[in-house]
Amino acid sequence: MLIINHSQVRELLPMRDCMEVVAEALTDLAKGQGVQPLRSGFLLPDGRGVLAWMPGSLAAGRPFGIKVLSVMDSPAELGVDSHQGGVLVFDPSNGAPLALCEAGAITAVRTAAVSALATDNLARPEAATVAILGAGTQARSHIEAMLEVRPVSRFLVWGRDPEKVRSFAEEQAARHGVTVDTAPDVATVVAGADIVCTTTSAREPILFAEMLEPGMHINAVGASIPAWREIDPGVLPLVSLFTDRRESLRNEAGEYIQARETGLVERGLVIPEIGEVVNGDHPGRTSDTEITLFRSLGLAVEDIAAAQLVSERALERGAGLKVNLAG
Ligand code: NDP
Repeated sequence: MLIINHSQVRELLPMRDCMEVVAEALTDLAKGQGVQPLRSGFLLPDGRGVLAWMPGSLAAGRPFGIKVLSVMDSPAELGVDSHQGGVLVFDPSNGAPLALCEAGAITAVRTAAVSALATDNLARPEAATVAILGAGTQARSHIEAMLEVRPVSRFLVWGRDPEKVRSFAEEQAARHGVTVDTAPDVATVVAGADIVCTTTSAREPILFAEMLEPGMHINAVGASIPAWREIDPGVLPLVSLFTDRRESLRNEAGEYIQARETGLVERGLVIPEIGEVVNGDHPGRTSDTEITLFRSLGLAVEDIAAAQLVSERALERGAGLKVNLAG
């Protein structure tokens, strides 16, 4: 088995390549190929974070596996990444563990790659201004991901700590050679944006219906457990909603659960999965004025597809630490 650390994952998993493998995993899943149970987890006894485990399998004959990770509150204060753990991938031919990849790097890239896939399929082709809410790991990888799929001329970033956001904007502008501006509040950042990425750990809504504009595309990434909300449920009646997995949306997306319970969203409405759009089973955006919202919950099949690619490349290049577990 290979053990592949954070920097090796980052080197072996370019955003564009990750987009291709997550697209395949999600389109297979939409066709009923693969296995994707809901994730499980519990709140740590001191309430300062969660332990989560996310099992899944790609289509028949392809790897299966599990991501096990802790997600801590205030990771920056602790000096750690928000998501820490491993993605363990198994060989389907004999059940042997193939690789253990550092989970934070896989999560950072595969989540943004899925948002890029959604944006490529749902945003207007000429979308060029992007609002990013948050200035952490996902904010970083979403800037990289949006640049892959649209001719972005300007990013506008909001975060709750102005100093952090300023240094984030400078770092990202230098890294990508693009304009990255900041603004003091969410409404100003979102106004006029073609694409909005919500990538915060907010537990109460920060994006509201009155901030939406015709033609926008939104990638809603934060708030992965039912008790938390990053977008207000009042947003949902105004948008064409898409998701990575309907079952996850119904069980994990707090604003969607609340919107269904309060009648803001019809209970019988079938929300399209992004794999169905990529497959051509759903048309996606149908007008320039429609507002599309991709609600990302995050799936193990995305982690496994990314980890498989990383482990293949590590084998080819002699990277990673080889361990004989069965020895
Ligand atoms: P980071 O800790 O790296 O960044 C979180 C960002 O959110 C920071 O800018 C932080 O600001 C900000 N933030 C924290 N609390 C609040 C708040 N109450 N209001 C507004 N902003 C806040 O986390 P990640 O980037 O790794 O993750 C971001 C979100 O994405 C999380 O909710 C996470 O669960 C989710 N996620 C979703 C995935 C998916 O597949 N859909 C996958 C991975 C993550 P500050 O620096 O000031 O604390």
